Amino acid sequence: MKKIKKIAVMTSGGDSPGMNAAIRSVVRACAYYRVSCIGIYRGYEGLIEGDFIELTARSVNNIINKGGTILKSARSEEFRTKEGRAKAYEHLKENEIEAMVVIGGDGSFTGAVIFNEEYKFPIIGIPGTIDNDIFGTTHTLGFDTALNTAVEAIDKIRDTASSHNRLFFVEVMGRDAGFIALNAGVGAGAEEILIPEEDLGLDRMLESLKKSRRTGKSSSIVVVAEGDKSGKNVYQLAEYVEENLQEYDVRVSVLGHMQRGGSPSCFDRVLASRLGVKSVELLLDGKTNLMVGLKNNEVISTSIAEAIKGGHSINQELLRVSDIMTT
Ligand code: ATP
Repeated sequence: MKKIKKIAVMTSGGDSPGMNAAIRSVVRACAYYRVSCIGIYRGYEGLIEGDFIELTARSVNNIINKGGTILKSARSEEFRTKEGRAKAYEHLKENEIEAMVVIGGDGSFTGAVIFNEEYKFPIIGIPGTIDNDIFGTTHTLGFDTALNTAVEAIDKIRDTASSHNRLFFVEVMGRDAGFIALNAGVGAGAEEILIPEEDLGLDRMLESLKKSRRTGKSSSIVVVAEGDKSGKNVYQLAEYVEENLQEYDVRVSVLGHMQRGGSPSCFDRVLASRLGVKSVELLLDGKTNLMVGLKNNEVISTSIAEAIKGGHSINQELLRVSDIMTT
């Protein structure tokens, strides 16, 4: 087998904390194995334009603690076309790049699989999204940091909630997945957690809030996942409760993009370092179309096709714990 001499790395789709730590890890692993490393700016957009930079072990000094991505990220409509992908391949060939590490979400991985089918180009994926909605890993890069950010914000909201005897609805990110809501909700001691995976109905929420008041709680926090399937957005939920439970003074807080930024947690930095090394080692081993991930604290790999197709399931034990905690 011919040894790979040049590997490229890119970040694609939405950014997440830990992407820089993963870039650093890929670059340093390449340096360790004496392989050249090229950074591709702005994901597939930069690949189509040939917007590349040579990265050495020293190019990635002092980025392990930085949020966002030094390579920038983008979404590329052109990469969805055959012509766009042909341009991308030409730039890789011209620059003698023989393999690529794609740090991104399931959209980026879908693009990677299609590109590999067309050009047999070796690719390894690193799951980078705060939503944690990717099959084949218990943790995606950025999830842990986003959780900590959300918990810290909810703690602050609780100070106001308890000073004024208020009920706060706090919307957290996660798209169609309730991982951030469930974990941050349990971590911040929320009274109710509304997630897309478990629609228990609005009556249950009213009952639970009534019970909270009866049993002496003067303030409450309800964490709502942005993809919640109750049929009402967070503002409508607040109105609904105010109409039905007049004893409550209700407020809404949408945490929004602050959850995507900030310095990555230690967990995300360590995870990024492990996944980056593994991705380079897999490519040097002649492997392709795999996504690296974490399971039982071991670094594992799953076929990218499976990672895209596989559903995500919420932790039932954690749901049960959250239920018991509302007693
Ligand atoms: P996030 O989870 O943060 O949204 P993502 O990787 O899922 O990240 P997407 O915007 O879905 O983000 O995908 C990123 C890019 O991947 C797209 O802009 C596009 O260039 C490429 N891509 C997605 N789907 C396809 C596809 N079917 N064919 C070719 N390229 C695709």
